[in-house]
Amino acid sequence: MNKSLAFETKAVRGTRCGEDATGSISFPIYLSTTFKHIGLNESTGYDYSRLQNPTREELENTLATLENGKEGMAFSTGVAAVTAVLHLFKPKNHIILSDDLYGGTYRLFQNIYNEYGLEVTFVDTTNVNNIEKNLRENTKGVFIETPSNPMMKVADIKAISKLCREKRIISIVDNTFLTPYFQKPLDLGAHVVVHSGTKYLGGHNDALAGFVVSSDEEIINRIRLIQKSTGACLSPFDSWLILRGIKTLHIRLKSAQNNAMKIAKWLKNQKGIEKVYYIGLEEHEGYNITKKQCSGFGSMISIKTESVELAHKILSKVKIISFAESLGGVESLITYPFTQTHSEIPEAIKKSLGVDERLLRLSVGIEEVNDLIEDLNEAINGL
Ligand SMILES: *Cc1c(COP(=O)(O)O)cnc(C)c1O
Repeated sequence: MNKSLAFETKAVRGTRCGEDATGSISFPIYLSTTFKHIGLNESTGYDYSRLQNPTREELENTLATLENGKEGMAFSTGVAAVTAVLHLFKPKNHIILSDDLYGGTYRLFQNIYNEYGLEVTFVDTTNVNNIEKNLRENTKGVFIETPSNPMMKVADIKAISKLCREKRIISIVDNTFLTPYFQKPLDLGAHVVVHSGTKYLGGHNDALAGFVVSSDEEIINRIRLIQKSTGACLSPFDSWLILRGIKTLHIRLKSAQNNAMKIAKWLKNQKGIEKVYYIGLEEHEGYNITKKQCSGFGSMISIKTESVELAHKILSKVKIISFAESLGGVESLITYPFTQTHSEIPEAIKKSLGVDERLLRLSVGIEEVNDLIEDLNEAINGL
């Protein structure tokens, strides 16, 4: 497909819209697990669906073009994608990670792969010097989440990628919160992008998925091998759901972002709210880097309430906004990172990051914003 097409056009049309033998506009769901050989040592390009499936391939190619990467690889969940990336490393390799991370990523590195001999250090990646200071002889990877979950800390992707390239270290960016619509880590120099496709890419809270995207041939070949060997590939039906979600990615994100900006500004003026963490607010510590490296702010907001009681009251009183884990869907959700998404992280670490009993995380959806504000108003200021 024409590389110069706009993001929106690529998102809607994918790479082969209407181009199969039937002219199908909605890309077909190929449920077949296996494909007939034309002859000995001949293949249609598809042999067995764990290796490749046409529906999954269309999704992988679509995501690759959106991230400006060479190849995309789809996995059954976001953590399966992160696991695949982890397999790029060997025992005794050292990896530096953002200290504020999705709890499941923390658990995977700290509780599972630690036992396989991977060394990990968690640092505040808002300052590239913290990475440089912690480099070791055996440092092979840097894994950042930006903006981070749930404290919305912003890391300078370009500066970190540059350092990694100088030191021959693989730089990995979890791009779940902003998606390629607002942030393209590969363009900024990163080697690898990972996603939880469960979130904004799917966008409807109805399918789990994960992605790895890269332009580095060596990394691509290795991840492909890992994908087919470990087997956590995305099913054809779920591939189709994510493909359909991506068609409206830009529309959803614009709408959700508009809502989030209005809600963040409104929250700032509420007496019971001590602090609002939204990268679109000018006073946010990462605002300037965000303006430099992103084309938008997304719709994730965290808030610090003045009391634990108020945090609990909000969770119990919201009616339109659902008290549920996850994010990035058309439905607005509110969650309590301390005991939910980040329950696996030791309490002392959580508290030092600011993930405490007064922190709430809001994923703003695309409902009418005044309904959302009224819901929050009742929850915060109502009896
Ligand atoms: C949800 C999430 C993941 C994990 O993805 P799953 O699809 O739930 O496995 C990884 N990173 C971030 C930033 C997430 O929000």
